Amino acid sequence: MYNIGVDVGGTSVKAGLVKEGEIVFKNSQETDKIGGVEALANNIISLVNEIVEKCSVKIEEVGTIGIGVPGMVNKHGEIVCVNIGIKNGNLIELLEKEFPTCKIDIANDANVAALAEYAFGSMKGYNSGIMLTLGTGVGSGIIINGKLVTGAHGIGAEIGHITIDKNYFDCNCGNNGCFETFCSATAIIKYAQKLIGEGRESLILEKAKNIENITAKDVFDSYREKDIVAVEVIDRFKNYLGLGIGNIINFIDPDVISIGGGVSNASDIIFDGLEEIIRKYVVFKGVEIADVVIAKFKNDAGILGASAL
Ligand SMILES: [Zn+2]
Repeated sequence: MYNIGVDVGGTSVKAGLVKEGEIVFKNSQETDKIGGVEALANNIISLVNEIVEKCSVKIEEVGTIGIGVPGMVNKHGEIVCVNIGIKNGNLIELLEKEFPTCKIDIANDANVAALAEYAFGSMKGYNSGIMLTLGTGVGSGIIINGKLVTGAHGIGAEIGHITIDKNYFDCNCGNNGCFETFCSATAIIKYAQKLIGEGRESLILEKAKNIENITAKDVFDSYREKDIVAVEVIDRFKNYLGLGIGNIINFIDPDVISIGGGVSNASDIIFDGLEEIIRKYVVFKGVEIADVVIAKFKNDAGILGASAL
């Protein structure tokens, strides 16, 4: 039996035929952002048909078609994905009509990434796990006893928007002090820009050439060369990451927390001393706490996780 995982993104829709955690074949199409939910369904239908044809697999041999979408999925399977022009629509109904023998399931892309790590990657073998994707924002997924936890209304598991302190700029969600305004790649870049903008000298600027072009990698690279501004930026980031993870442990106490996203490329720097910071914020002292690990998957997490829905 095969499964198909579909990763819906802002620029492309990617699909893959998956068997036992391995992608056998994958294809993609440009995302139709104008035609609403019907256009997305058509994107997916043609990708699935192409996969079945190219791989000489019968659709009856495909157990699940799982889809990860960049937005909200409610308990009825209706989706709201503002970035790709879907205000409301039932993708499940449209796909079930086309593929009546397959189980169709949809989840938010951050939850799907967590599922990929839980089923096949860094959280495999654990009972409960939480994934934090540190990229442009902070994405998150919660899995308890093998099940994604998204809440009674499908709007939970938004750990990136837990308020953890007052910050000097507002979050995209409109609030101030969200976890992601301290611990995303964007947060690292913004704080480096702030300090340099205040006249501080730094290797970061030498590497980036221009304050507008600073990347999180420039900051981590400068940290390795003991640049004082970079050290200040990364120390602040790590303190808040430890605080955020400490909060998660106080709240849910999972077996494992997996860290992914672009920022996790500097895992040696992030992990150095992180446990001590986390323990500072965990209420119960001297007890066993969650393993904190690095995510295994990068680009294929969407397809693999969706295939495991
Ligand atoms: Zn927010």
